[in-house]
Amino acid sequence: MRTPYDASVEHVADLDQTERDARAATASTLLAPLAERGVVGVATTFVDNSGVARVKAVPLSRLPHLAAWGAGSSVSFDRFRFDDWIAGDGAGREAVGDLRVMPDVGRVVPLGGTSGWAWAPADRYQQDGTPHDQCGRLLLASLLGTLATQGITVKAAVELEWVVSHDVGDDSDDDFRPAARGPAYGMARLVDASDYAADLLAALADSGVVVEQFHPEYAPGQLELSVAAEDPVSAADTSVLVRSVIAAVGVRHGLRTSFSPKVAVPGVGNGGHVHLSLWRDGTNLMSGGPDARLGLTADGEAFAAGVLQHLPALMAVGAPGVTSYLRHVPSHWAGTYACWGLENREAAVRMVTGSPGATSSVANVEVKCFDLHANPYLVLAGLIGAGLSGLAAGASLPDPVDVDPAVLSSDELQSRGIKRLPQSLREAVDAFATDAVVQYALGAALSASVVALRESELELFDGQSDETVAAVTRWQR
Ligand code: GLU
Ligand code: MG
Repeated sequence: MRTPYDASVEHVADLDQTERDARAATASTLLAPLAERGVVGVATTFVDNSGVARVKAVPLSRLPHLAAWGAGSSVSFDRFRFDDWIAGDGAGREAVGDLRVMPDVGRVVPLGGTSGWAWAPADRYQQDGTPHDQCGRLLLASLLGTLATQGITVKAAVELEWVVSHDVGDDSDDDFRPAARGPAYGMARLVDASDYAADLLAALADSGVVVEQFHPEYAPGQLELSVAAEDPVSAADTSVLVRSVIAAVGVRHGLRTSFSPKVAVPGVGNGGHVHLSLWRDGTNLMSGGPDARLGLTADGEAFAAGVLQHLPALMAVGAPGVTSYLRHVPSHWAGTYACWGLENREAAVRMVTGSPGATSSVANVEVKCFDLHANPYLVLAGLIGAGLSGLAAGASLPDPVDVDPAVLSSDELQSRGIKRLPQSLREAVDAFATDAVVQYALGAALSASVVALRESELELFDGQSDETVAAVTRWQR
């Protein structure tokens, strides 16, 4: 494989004493305003390779120290499975070593829906200040740096779908009891959940989240929220933050929250669609004007083509669990076919153009096949790595698809070159294991962890029924 760019976190600067001092000084300026808002503790999270946000917390007064030196954290988190099993390599190395969880002091916000807490996303470094090679957040920043050398910036947003369930206060009871009643997209469901939803919007505003839309979704008890596009690191941060705020507001209302891709085996699941647009000199590359082939600029097309080409392997990152594939049912708007189409909700890559007149600002590609059990930093890093390879190759998109591919005969699918995405975690891991581009984007250590974790989950669920898989994963991320 050609290596068209540098893909390692080694290209992120080490933390030196000047940087540590600057971080501590910034943190000191935050103490009084946070105290004024009633903050007494600061939680800082990183997301592990199974998609679980793991946390360290300090009293507010300790924030400057945390900002400079971070909190200690075991290296074993690179191999933590969703159920807290450690999928080690058998050599016993996971017990040894210490990483520093370093909060981003530029993104400390009150944690809406809680009393007394602030939150910040974290990067993971070695004790000596070198970046940890399995830190998804630093990896994403590094890949964005590569795009920036080509004059390209990215805007991204992660849509959130979740369900609310009555909490009966019994840990041994993992049943789902839909807590927002009423029809899909129905005003009745919004009214039923109106106190909760109003508190949620207020809590998200407290955390500085720009909500663009909220609505009841299709499945029982399901809701959806979309947020404004940001740079990809911030978009992934926001995705983590919003999930915590949703969960916190749920607790206050006696509700359990699940972002599981398939809470109940029948019906529609929870997606985690990713919106992406590329920009150069203030111009949206996803909008090439009325005369452009397929509506995109050549660079926009090449990037999207790279993404489409590598989607099978990216599924091991973006649809990371056995449960993810219970959601992947055709004609359920989950993007189960590796194709693209203009405003096609059954294509894994949906081209969103918006209304004429708004296109140059809003045009983006929506990747629909992923879910919220994924680590959003790794998802965005994988997408950008795939897009970079498309750019380097000047890749072209195939013809867009303007129907639900599920209605096409197998002959038609074949002649149009439309394939199903992996239909199981097994197929996704196999696609990942043979995709040098995606593995290059993540790096060797992270790729090995992804494979080890997915294999370990396959072993855990071997022979289990869909119902058992859905129940076991329902409340765990
Ligand atoms: N719930 C669908 C999914 O599993 C998505 C519905 C929509 O397009 O918003 O991804
Ligand atoms: Mg939706």
